[in-house]
Amino acid sequence: MENCLFCKIAAKQIPSSIVHEDDDLLVFKDINPAAPVHLLIIPKVHVSTLSDCTPEHAPLLGKMMSLVPKLAADHNIAVTYDEQGQPSRGFKFLINSGPDGGQEVYHLHMHLYGGPRPWRGMRT
Ligand code: AMP
Ligand code: ZN
Repeated sequence: MENCLFCKIAAKQIPSSIVHEDDDLLVFKDINPAAPVHLLIIPKVHVSTLSDCTPEHAPLLGKMMSLVPKLAADHNIAVTYDEQGQPSRGFKFLINSGPDGGQEVYHLHMHLYGGPRPWRGMRT
């Protein structure tokens, strides 16, 4: 997709801070992080928004989401439990879609936020 920022990042035409790459996905650090850990998970193929996904995208979407536990563990934001079973740490996982959803870059991406709060622009 011409003139798509994240297609250019996926093609390495624009540099990014890559933390994971495989045949289908790229994960890189958000350039303007809203939290101590702020990663973007993108498919290498161009899909504009979540509204453009169909059941055919289920394997791709599943691959993106099922990468989150490993990314969270690698960045020390995974949910952990103490001896009483109380959870600590954790993360937020978000897909902005369309203008009302606050989407700025029209190449599907999943945000992964974590680390000590406060986080910019997020109360919960
Ligand atoms: P959204 O509002 O969901 O479309 O989020 C777009 C995100 O892309 C924002 O959090 C931006 O900070 C981030 N972003 C924009 N340009 C770049 C870039 N060149 N490298 C990394 N992240 C970027
Ligand atoms: Zn694109």
